[in-house]
Amino acid sequence: MYIDKKREIKLNKKELEKFFKRLAELLEVNGCNARDLSNAQIILDEMGVPEDEQDEFLEGCRYAGGFCDCEIFLNAEEYLREKYSD
Ligand SMILES: [Zn+2]
Repeated sequence: MYIDKKREIKLNKKELEKFFKRLAELLEVNGCNARDLSNAQIILDEMGVPEDEQDEFLEGCRYAGGFCDCEIFLNAEEYLREKYSD
């Protein structure tokens, strides 16, 4: 029997810093599609963030005006730092 048990993490201050670092890298490589948060989603998957927490995170991005990946840095960075300040 094959069991795919992925390590799941809880987003906190430290993980958020990793996210920002990785997002900056990916934006440099992939660029921003100016449409959605696809790079952000790739990173959250990589990090092993559970789906419901991913949804909450991405919702927070949009709430703060981050509707595409580069807008996370432009509009949502401060909001996210406050939200995940533990
Ligand atoms: Zn963008």
